[in-house]
Amino acid sequence: MHDVVIVGAGISGLRCAVELESAGVDYLILEKNSFVGGRCSSLSYDGFILDRGFQILLDSYDEVFSFVSEKELDYQRFLSGALIDTDRGGREVFDPFKSSQRLRTAVKLILSDIGSFRDKWRLWRSSRCIALPGSVDMQQPTHQYLRNVFSERFLEEFLRPFWGSVFLDYDLRVPLCQFWELLSFFSAGWGGLPAQGMQALPDALAGRLSKERIRLKTSVVSINGNRLELSSGGFVEGRKVILALPQEVVCRLMNFRSPVNERSSACVYFAADVSPFDLPALRLNAKTNHKIVKTICIPTSIQPNYAPRDKVLISVNLDPQFDYATREIRQNALNELVELFGRQVDDWEELKYMRVLNALPDYSITAELEDNDYLVCGDYSSTPSINNAFASGRIAAMKCLKAC
Ligand SMILES: Cc1cc2nc3c(=O)[nH]c(=O)nc-3n(C[C@H](O)[C@H](O)[C@H](O)COP(=O)(O)OP(=O)(O)OC[C@H]3O[C@@H](n4cnc5c(N)ncnc54)[C@H](O)[C@@H]3O)c2cc1C
Repeated sequence: MHDVVIVGAGISGLRCAVELESAGVDYLILEKNSFVGGRCSSLSYDGFILDRGFQILLDSYDEVFSFVSEKELDYQRFLSGALIDTDRGGREVFDPFKSSQRLRTAVKLILSDIGSFRDKWRLWRSSRCIALPGSVDMQQPTHQYLRNVFSERFLEEFLRPFWGSVFLDYDLRVPLCQFWELLSFFSAGWGGLPAQGMQALPDALAGRLSKERIRLKTSVVSINGNRLELSSGGFVEGRKVILALPQEVVCRLMNFRSPVNERSSACVYFAADVSPFDLPALRLNAKTNHKIVKTICIPTSIQPNYAPRDKVLISVNLDPQFDYATREIRQNALNELVELFGRQVDDWEELKYMRVLNALPDYSITAELEDNDYLVCGDYSSTPSINNAFASGRIAAMKCLKAC
């Protein structure tokens, strides 16, 4: 019997293990996959690094960067803002305060017809995270709040495509408190990528653990007190059990009601010889006749390592309600890309379609999970993010050490 068994070697489980390891606790991690990192991980594919679903790492993530340095990750940033394809042509929204050409960016933004002067003023105020009045209901859906504050056009052309891709929820039903929390991270920093892909984060965590304490390809199928049944038919026991699992797995194993609003993600990776646009920034697709392609990003524009020499990696993020694996959807998505970038799309080589079901957890279910006898950690314990997965693992370890 081990003192502690952690189920799940995602970010939260690994972060938890780091604390236990340095406290000298006898622990074991059980992980069903053949790799660590769970949802924050990458695949090596023909010389390309493909993150499992397009993700970005914000340099304002305090829990992450107090653990691992930018230098260790060889971290590089995108520009702060976005390029936007609208029905009226291409537009830009970049933060003048984070631009190397402040004055030029500010003038361009003020003169742009992407929103009214009031929209831009309110965007600036929000980006400074000036506290909301106490009367604002922080549980209201984000779209309701944004609709009251910004013009319809600004909401549809910039806010919905941008925040929809962050929350994997283009209806923006996410509670305002979660929007506000992530807004504060976005405002405080830049988005970027590690040179070796998102896998660099779990690898940095696992690198601080004794190898023999991580058991890969080991799936837990049921939990009975401190006894865990494995898919192999064997059992593992721990004086304490920490569930570092995705929300829907915890619900299944603990017989809680199933989540209803899990959010999925879908993205297709392409290889090209030439980048379809020059700026290292997220490109949002706000064309009203386009339903499938949502955002486009070129990871190699900041991290050439994501592709073999002289190749460009293009990540096209789709509305997950459409399944790109079906011929018609795929053709429609390619037509949308041709409208955006022209016939160069014919030369792109399709590398991989990645659909992640349950990419982000349901908003509404955490209370029940906190109410059980097991220690739990994972991104569902607050606003789902890499930073909060780090935090929840650290906190679970502290609780465990206190209880031991
Ligand atoms: C496509 C996508 C895009 C995202 N984009 C961003 C972003 O840009 N920025 C950001 O901050 N966050 C983003 N996130 C969220 C972030 O990746 C997650 O919040 C974080 O990785 C969750 O870590 P976790 O440890 O809580 O859960 P997980 O990573 O899900 O870890 C749980 C682990 O448990 C294992 N497991 C499951 N069932 C069993 C079982 N029965 N037995 C044993 N092991 C089991 C899993 O294999 C997994 O390794 C994104 C997520 C996805 C999927």
